Amino acid sequence: MSESSTKQLLCVLCAKLHNPADFCPVHPDEPLLDPDDDDVRFELMALDDKAKSRFYMWCGGVGAALGFVLGIVAYYLVKSQSPVVAEALRMEIVFGGLAALLALGLVVAKLRYRPKFTEWTRDDHSI
Ligand SMILES: [Zn+2]
Repeated sequence: MSESSTKQLLCVLCAKLHNPADFCPVHPDEPLLDPDDDDVRFELMALDDKAKSRFYMWCGGVGAALGFVLGIVAYYLVKSQSPVVAEALRMEIVFGGLAALLALGLVVAKLRYRPKFTEWTRDDHSI
């Protein structure tokens, strides 16, 4: 195992490899981890999962909040044209807007999310 002395280790905060003798220049307090270690890979997957749920929650939450505002604006627009229709469909209009932009937020999250540690956690890594 002569390669182990030159193998680079990973800083989980910036997802970059560094020489084991050095510290991460940006995060000198963060211990460097061996990305070939199964425990470390498991931890990296867990970190990516957590980041993914946080990102989805954030995008969905922003979408829902914007959709709620949009739904209320749409309700008052409809009300200015037809108060009877606006009253009958009040919930549908407001929550329709909320649901539509919540869904849009989740689509954006799906398109934009990139796992940070995929270079080390994907299954073909060891081949
Ligand atoms: Zn770092």
